[in-house]
Amino acid sequence: MQNLLQKYKPTIGIEIHCQLATKTKLFCRCARETSSELEPNQHTCEVCLGLPGALPRINEHAVWQAIRFATAAKSSVSKQSFFMRKQYFYPDLPKGYQITQLTHPIGMGGSIELPSGGSVLLDRVQIEEDAGKILHKGKSSLVDLNRAGTPLIEIVSAPDMHSIDEALEYVKTVYRLVRFHKISDANMEKGNFRMDLNISLSPVNSKELGVRCEIKNVNSFRFAEKAINYEMLRQFQILEENQKIKQQTRGYDPDSDTTFPMRDKEDAHDYRYFDDPDLPVLDCGSQLKMDLDLEVDPIEAEKNLIKAGLNQETTTYFTESKANFNYLKECQKNLKNSKNLGKLAAFFMTEIKSNKEQDQNLEIFELFDPSKLAEIFNLVDGGVLSSKTAKKAADLYYKNKGLAILDIAKANGLIQVQDESKIKEVIQDVLDKNPKQLEEYRAGKTKLKGFFVGQIMKVSSGNFSPSLVQKILDKLLNA
Ligand SMILES: [Zn+2]
Repeated sequence: MQNLLQKYKPTIGIEIHCQLATKTKLFCRCARETSSELEPNQHTCEVCLGLPGALPRINEHAVWQAIRFATAAKSSVSKQSFFMRKQYFYPDLPKGYQITQLTHPIGMGGSIELPSGGSVLLDRVQIEEDAGKILHKGKSSLVDLNRAGTPLIEIVSAPDMHSIDEALEYVKTVYRLVRFHKISDANMEKGNFRMDLNISLSPVNSKELGVRCEIKNVNSFRFAEKAINYEMLRQFQILEENQKIKQQTRGYDPDSDTTFPMRDKEDAHDYRYFDDPDLPVLDCGSQLKMDLDLEVDPIEAEKNLIKAGLNQETTTYFTESKANFNYLKECQKNLKNSKNLGKLAAFFMTEIKSNKEQDQNLEIFELFDPSKLAEIFNLVDGGVLSSKTAKKAADLYYKNKGLAILDIAKANGLIQVQDESKIKEVIQDVLDKNPKQLEEYRAGKTKLKGFFVGQIMKVSSGNFSPSLVQKILDKLLNA
């Protein structure tokens, strides 16, 4: 790779096919559902089967979702957008053409800001329908059209990336965006977030792009990394042998981590695109006036949470979905001292998220009332609860939802004792019961202080204010 980078500049452009989160398919009312429990072809009708005479009708929600992505990606939303037919034959495409966009896509241009700085330019965002699936069984091949006609957005980047790291950061950022805004479930295992990777090499001093190869349908970040790496090295070897790169569509084989040729790459004119006569021009103006629900940018939110003192893992969790983010916001709203947000978030990760893992069906808001979580931290801040008793209070609240935290704390003796004379009494008692250790301490074995603290904590069940215990113990030990 070192040799390669000395002589050549890699250029990467990526097309992401991302299934939109809608109830129904793009042009019919069949459910958009691709669960493995479905019978093959269960969710099909005359439209998605491509029967003659059946007419498509656009799913408004899919258009809204596509506009949301385009807006989040600062792509300029076309006021008038329309669909075209891309002709090709494939057994899982019964119409013989795919309804897609070309000249007037839903979004033009735009960019994705990367968390590490910099950005990747977008060429366009377009809406299109997905094809079905072919299942190979023994000698026969079967066609399942449950997926045929499900709505996709194709997010086409400019050839704007020049390293594997940058390409990976880009696809991961897009993935986070679509999941955070619930534009897509982006379930990679189900294939509803797939990447086509366009890779070329050009001599370092050349301004012209090299001949590109496209690796189709990569559906994991790890595979994307390996595929780009392999493809760069493959092209390097060809160029080093003074051969020419052939413009090609290639596949990626995860078993051998290699790419293989599928077909020579077609150009747009090969598909004989023309305007779809069955679908009217999309007037996006009215959609743009609707609430796009994009107030929070997860990448920006991440930066702010890090600034507020949350660590990376905690930040990633709270910016993974809008629900998680809103939960933390709700905690913050109820927190008297905003400086405690980092502590609260860390407490959530260690003490409460584990419950979530056990009670998988619970939504974050059902798991633990955010105002109660803030209340616990307000009590810790006021010295009423210690961090140790805070855990107990949270645990008891989890089991007895609906009770006030302070009531739980009082009923279970969790209130931190602040009464100096009472603490002094207990400490004196501990010292009296351990005369040998006290003598040794006073003779210079100061390590024994820890022993006394341990004894005091045991007697007090951890309910004494630690700072008061330290202060009084020091006084009595050195008396
Ligand atoms: Zn249908």
